[in-house]
Amino acid sequence: MSKKEDEHIPPLQCSRRLFLKGCTIAAAALGLSEVMVPRLVEAAANPQRPPVIWLHFQECTGCTESLLRASHPDIGRLLLDLISLDYHETVMAAAGHQAEELLKQTIEKHSGKFICVVEGGIPTKDNGIYCKIAGRTAMDILAEVAPKAAAIIAVGSCAAYGGIQAAEPNPTGAVGVQSLVHGTPVINISGCPPNPVCLLGTILHYLTFKRLPPVDGLGRPLFAYGRKIHDQCERRAHFDEGRFAEQFGDAGHLQGYCLYKVGCKGPQTYANCPVARFNDVGVWPVGVGHGCVGCTEPDFWDTMTPFYERLPGVAIPGGDGIVTGAGSAGKKILAVTGAAIGIHAAVGIGKRLVKGKKEE
Ligand code: SF4
Ligand code: SF4
Repeated sequence: MSKKEDEHIPPLQCSRRLFLKGCTIAAAALGLSEVMVPRLVEAAANPQRPPVIWLHFQECTGCTESLLRASHPDIGRLLLDLISLDYHETVMAAAGHQAEELLKQTIEKHSGKFICVVEGGIPTKDNGIYCKIAGRTAMDILAEVAPKAAAIIAVGSCAAYGGIQAAEPNPTGAVGVQSLVHGTPVINISGCPPNPVCLLGTILHYLTFKRLPPVDGLGRPLFAYGRKIHDQCERRAHFDEGRFAEQFGDAGHLQGYCLYKVGCKGPQTYANCPVARFNDVGVWPVGVGHGCVGCTEPDFWDTMTPFYERLPGVAIPGGDGIVTGAGSAGKKILAVTGAAIGIHAAVGIGKRLVKGKKEE
């Protein structure tokens, strides 16, 4: 990086080293070449930091906790330096009427310019009375804030798709942001919780290119959710050779074999976990021996459970093909789809079919 570019970097709360490291991580996550790093740095170092209103609705606050935990402080700190976090109930000092006044002022002062981050689902049943803040429902707050935001980032699977509270029978009628907001761009950073790198990349893309990154059909940024876990997994060679852990702790598990038979949902899950990994030590769930539970997919609490049973409809190389039980719902669906099913094509039709299938 040239001295001139270096001069763009303001006196940040996080060190210059962390700042540059964060921009480099984001560039890699975004699939940009290293030559783009100075441009990201320049955008990130702009003293006009975008105001952000972070709304908490029906959730466990796990996304914020994950972002701020000591296990990956660099990215959390960097994110807080990139934006002006004007309203965030978990971390702001203000409380009560003072906090609500702050929200009102921020909306008025920065109308059309602020980013709204939403964490949590929004209950809609009975006029949304199951989540209230300062006497107002989450629905009302979102209806007031969303039209005035420049863009909305739905962080976590609750904000994206309703989350665990939307699992059957969804007693509060919880939905994700996109079901209620129309006219303001919304991007979904799904995951339970999402990898902070995905949020960092999205914000840096917005700051650098003045628009949200391209998304898939579920509103998720393609740079992070464009490929299946299965297609990026270091255990994939074992899958392709038919080497599986049959149960946790067996010889196959100890040798790092594929976790499909002990419930890994990687063949049906789109996320960058095998590449982005978590924390500074660079681990991810499948890498340390636990199957992916599919947390980035809509309705995963209903569609990916039981977590420790295998997905139906995934062809095992070298075996006799499709894994599904006679008489199971899976088999009926598979009979309709017939020969179109392959290792890759078969995934995506197995949803809601795990229960009731027979062991191979
Ligand atoms: S099934 Fe899971 S463990 Fe096996 S290769 Fe696919 S993602 Fe990796
Ligand atoms: S490995 Fe699967 S369950 Fe784990 S965080 Fe990634 S997408 Fe979610």
